[in-house]
Amino acid sequence: MPNPSDIYTKPRLEMVEQQLVRRGIRDERVLAAMRRIPRHAFVDEALCFKAYEDYPLPIGEKQTISQPFMVAVMTEMLELKGNEKILEIGTGCGYQTAVLSLVAAQVYSIERIGPLLFKARKTLEALGIHNVALTVGDGTLGWKDFAPYDAILVAAGGPEVPKPLLEQLAIGGRIIIPIGGETGQVLKRVMRTPYGFEETASTPCTFVKLVGQYGWQENGNIG
Ligand code: SAH
Repeated sequence: MPNPSDIYTKPRLEMVEQQLVRRGIRDERVLAAMRRIPRHAFVDEALCFKAYEDYPLPIGEKQTISQPFMVAVMTEMLELKGNEKILEIGTGCGYQTAVLSLVAAQVYSIERIGPLLFKARKTLEALGIHNVALTVGDGTLGWKDFAPYDAILVAAGGPEVPKPLLEQLAIGGRIIIPIGGETGQVLKRVMRTPYGFEETASTPCTFVKLVGQYGWQENGNIG
């Protein structure tokens, strides 16, 4: 974990105040996690000085690390207490995974692009984060071996909520997923109750495509 005297500590604390607290993020555990995780460790060295700015950044393979505010909003919407088992779809560089690792008990994360996952694994290991399990695959199918999950976070935008994810959600569990077209989505929250699923939609957002059997196909059609 970061040395408090490192040159990125100040920009990171400012990022949390200006981009998160000022915009209404209230969950103290989410704020504490984002004060702690060194976002610059997840991007290329040439981009480190931009790591605490208010936008997504390229991470290779035409993918991006999400805007810090989006990471905060999605994590807050999961309403975690700390004892949850989480499934994340779209590991990317592993930044969101790292934040989740501090606010939940165990994180399972799936990424479809192998080289991104291998890099994410290295970064997470280097930071001493061990309560995460990562695998390469199509996250729209979920990860049956460890289901059911108390919360599922999907970091890529799909046309609809993948059915296997609904099936792998515990009663009382929540999914947060960007749903919409390829150029814009809204964050959808689905909660599983003993009687069915309750949906709410909120913040507009723009995520990279969720590509998979229950997402988009590579060519842009529904999978
Ligand atoms: N939270 C990540 C965001 C990465 S962008 C970060 O902070 O870096 C979204 C990621 O979802 C991309 O890396 C993309 O390859 C991945 N993705 C898209 N469809 C997927 C699928 N069906 N299964 C797993 N990962 C997927």
